Amino acid sequence: MTRPKPKKPATSEIPGVSMLDRARETLRAACDRLSIHPDVYEELKWPRETLAATLLIRMDDGSRRAFKAWRCRYNDRRGPTKGGVRFHPNVSLDEVETLAFWMTFKCAVANLPFGGGKGGVCVDTKELSPNELERLSRAYVEAFAAFIGPDRDILAPDMYTNGIVLAWMADEYSAITGQPSPTALTGKPLAFGGTRGRIDATARGGYVALRELHGPLGLSPDKATVAIQGFGNVGYHAAKLLHADGYRIVALSDSRGAIHDPDGFDPLAVMEHKSRTGAILGAPGHGETREISNAELLELDVDVLVPAALERQITADNQARIKARVILEMANGPVSPAADAWLAEKGTIIIPDILANSGGVTVSHLEWVQNRSGFYWDASRVRDHLRDVMETETQAVWALHSEMGLSLREAAYVHGLRRIAGSVEARGTPA
Ligand code: GLU
Repeated sequence: MTRPKPKKPATSEIPGVSMLDRARETLRAACDRLSIHPDVYEELKWPRETLAATLLIRMDDGSRRAFKAWRCRYNDRRGPTKGGVRFHPNVSLDEVETLAFWMTFKCAVANLPFGGGKGGVCVDTKELSPNELERLSRAYVEAFAAFIGPDRDILAPDMYTNGIVLAWMADEYSAITGQPSPTALTGKPLAFGGTRGRIDATARGGYVALRELHGPLGLSPDKATVAIQGFGNVGYHAAKLLHADGYRIVALSDSRGAIHDPDGFDPLAVMEHKSRTGAILGAPGHGETREISNAELLELDVDVLVPAALERQITADNQARIKARVILEMANGPVSPAADAWLAEKGTIIIPDILANSGGVTVSHLEWVQNRSGFYWDASRVRDHLRDVMETETQAVWALHSEMGLSLREAAYVHGLRRIAGSVEARGTPA
């Protein structure tokens, strides 16, 4: 395979250019492809509204600590804004707004009646006690209560937030509104208005998207090798589903390090080890297991690489060392725009985040539907619906890729943009 010549760095790799600026480049390209009316680009360039707050929490030792927090409603043309709340020490305003931009397109690609939103708190949850975490979760909802609501802005889990956090948030929101109000938040526990099938929905959606492309990509599970970065909710369930399908999971990682075994791992055994020791390091594989770095994991010669952790893991710095044939983006934004263009030219197939990880919000939509109707679905109905959505939208994106000669990411943006522009046009604004 011939390597493309090194190019001048794209604006996306220049320090000082924000993540939202970089995301906007993808939007600009999709608008140009479709000759979209300039009004639509102008509208989608910026978030509709973003609130910032400082959450003041009483710590267990009696002291007070301040945490920066944000909630962004990026665009609500297709419905109430929808998106998770991230608790992470590196969360910033730029990151929250960019994630909200991606949610806008993700919801459109999955054809959900939602716009995009996102929230975040700058915090390392590993430093908090359960009581402090509960106070922080409740304070978040108190700070943004006027912003959120079942027909306005609907919250969900994201990195380091889970069903318990969402239950505290839903309880707080219900106390503020004076009535049970679970519909303003999804990803809740089953006993508090949650849906069946939400826990593994993001991973399952990505798995279905990959399976849908087996034929065109020439992948066969019994021969294919996989490396997965991240062993949180998404990485773990993706490993489980792919392993059950016959894929050989040769590398896994969590925030403490990575493990490699050419003979593969059983994700259940790795999870058992992690639950016991707190990390995946030292987990048994089927053959000779060795410790590698996170960087080495990304550069392994595998058929499928699954980044399921943070954004910007593959950039101009390591793009030339990426050997995977297919990248399934289960994280949001794991490949920088410059690396994306470079890898596309080299022939690497990237199944983009706004398609690959849209299974989570697709089942969140079902939770919202069930909360509104008061009628709860069984697990197989949820899974069937998720499969139908993922198959339909993956096929649509693949068709645009083939017909228009676009990368899968460009095709996914064109697909989502058509729907968003259609909603703008339906209101009388030219699109
Ligand atoms: N945080 C998830 C995402 O990035 C899920 C969002 C949701 O369910 O609203 O897609």
